[in-house]
Amino acid sequence: MTDRYSRQILFSPIGKDGQKTLAESNAVIIGCGALGTVIATVLVRAGVGKVRIIDRDFIEYHNLQRQVIFDEEDIKNQLPKAVAAERHLRKVNSAIEIEGIVADVNYSNIEKLVRGADIILDGLDNLETRFLINDAALKLKIPWVYGGAISSFGMTMNIIPGKTPCLRCIHGNASGNGLSLTCDTAGVIAPAPFVTASLQSAEAMKILVGDEHINRDLISIDVWTAELKRFKVTRRQDCPACNGKFEFLDAQFATKTTSLCGQNAVQVLNPGIKHVSFEQLESRLKNIGKVSHNEFMLDFKVDSREMVVFPDGRVIVKNTADESLARGLYAKYIGA
Ligand SMILES: [Zn+2]
Repeated sequence: MTDRYSRQILFSPIGKDGQKTLAESNAVIIGCGALGTVIATVLVRAGVGKVRIIDRDFIEYHNLQRQVIFDEEDIKNQLPKAVAAERHLRKVNSAIEIEGIVADVNYSNIEKLVRGADIILDGLDNLETRFLINDAALKLKIPWVYGGAISSFGMTMNIIPGKTPCLRCIHGNASGNGLSLTCDTAGVIAPAPFVTASLQSAEAMKILVGDEHINRDLISIDVWTAELKRFKVTRRQDCPACNGKFEFLDAQFATKTTSLCGQNAVQVLNPGIKHVSFEQLESRLKNIGKVSHNEFMLDFKVDSREMVVFPDGRVIVKNTADESLARGLYAKYIGA
């Protein structure tokens, strides 16, 4: 059994003691897309004792280009990502505990999902849930590793409660103008999330074994130009999260969904968005689906879905009563 980790133990910053610590560690990965699949693969193979993988989605063909542990069989079997990830990774390492949880992480369940973790890893595709992780991690004093990738670039930063600035120190208030790019609008090439997730995984190993050289900068990397940049980040004096005010956990900025009775539609409200520019949104969505707008509303059709966006950021997702699906489509196309 020890032979499994022999090459990792030879690496002196880990060594025998570090390997033992990893075996006693508990990691939670939130989001099992391109970032999450790489992180999960690394941590499971590295022998982290408990790995919990949380994701709300099923696997689609356009995921296979970059989500390394899934295959066509998983799609045919209609497996949720968390379930497929657990099944594949159990075959890789039967000596540790792997748990796949199919759930939409939100303010009402996140504390329960991450409690007891030694580290939380971000494999998400939306800022709102990242702010939620930030709140929960600071409240429960669990280190977390932020990561995001889009197009040809990625970013990562370690957030150690009480020691480093947090995500809200750098991102300011909530969702900004509410129109962030997502992989579903700007596209992404696999090397971007692979490199980002590899950096996140290495930082996770360092944090778990107590290495003193933990990175304290925000790192951005572009795989197309092969440039890596470091940015010094400082704690913002008025940062609500660092001052113990957990607005996302308290659901002040949470996206709210309401199933519209008798209409087979779901309304999605994001209090963090005050105004939507239809021109900007249309230019971002026009290559993905059919989009049109007048001064009152923007209509967007993609696959079998239709969304109607209002200037105040309110969205109605048609032809579904599934609130979790509606929230997912909102995060995917409108951005949170
Ligand atoms: Zn902060």
